[in-house]
Amino acid sequence: MTSDARHPRDQLQDLLDDRLGPTERAEVRAHLEACDECRNAFRRIEWVKRQVTERLTTVDVPARLRADMAAALDREEASARSAFSWWRGGATWQLAAAATTIVLVAVVATWFYAGRTDLVAGVARDYRGYLDGSLTVERRTSSPAELEAFFRDRGIQFRTRVFDLGMMQYRLVGGRVHAIDGSPTALYGYRHDGGATLLCQMYEGRLEDLRGDAVVREHGGITFRMYQRDGVTLVFWQEGPVTCVLASDIASDEVLQLAFAKAEKL
Ligand SMILES: [Zn+2]
Repeated sequence: MTSDARHPRDQLQDLLDDRLGPTERAEVRAHLEACDECRNAFRRIEWVKRQVTERLTTVDVPARLRADMAAALDREEASARSAFSWWRGGATWQLAAAATTIVLVAVVATWFYAGRTDLVAGVARDYRGYLDGSLTVERRTSSPAELEAFFRDRGIQFRTRVFDLGMMQYRLVGGRVHAIDGSPTALYGYRHDGGATLLCQMYEGRLEDLRGDAVVREHGGITFRMYQRDGVTLVFWQEGPVTCVLASDIASDEVLQLAFAKAEKL
């Protein structure tokens, strides 16, 4: 299901930035009504734009993204460059004009799409980052309902299902909105009374997009794919349009059993 001429991928950004004429706009909107694939793509760029306009005011911009932005700005008009003088000077982030927003969105979107080609390795890195404290939760709560509300407020469009794993002695720690391979993810962690850590992520995506050799298990009519990366076990499965992944450095069979338990609760 790759994009072809019938999918107006090139016009999605224009639609979002209100650069289409009335006829074209109506056509693209009608296509979005009918096409899940394009609607999901549109949601993703919409999300990226929202992150730029609402959130990058406060978060640290990764060094590589900053370098890419600098390169993009070098290609821009002088007027646009002057609008970004704050940035070059390391001053506060201020979006000067809609045009500059568009430049930024394009760069950030490209960066998100290009940055995480090996999704499995990326999720394993996220786990390591969560363990060493470089990836932190934005909302600390042991309440699944509160965390689901947080994800909704933060623009996650799919239904997140945060489960209470208390029966297995795993306590919910909290979560954040993160990104995998261009898609926003709902990320949340659990801590076992004995010290083990579980990290879960949910995003709009398909199991078929995962690369590399997996151990495939069927359980309760659901297909699970298990990967090993750097001592981290990652178990992926599909819930409708959403892919879920559970990651941990505990025994791989235990991660698999927890994934079975979590998937069964749906
Ligand atoms: Zn389409």
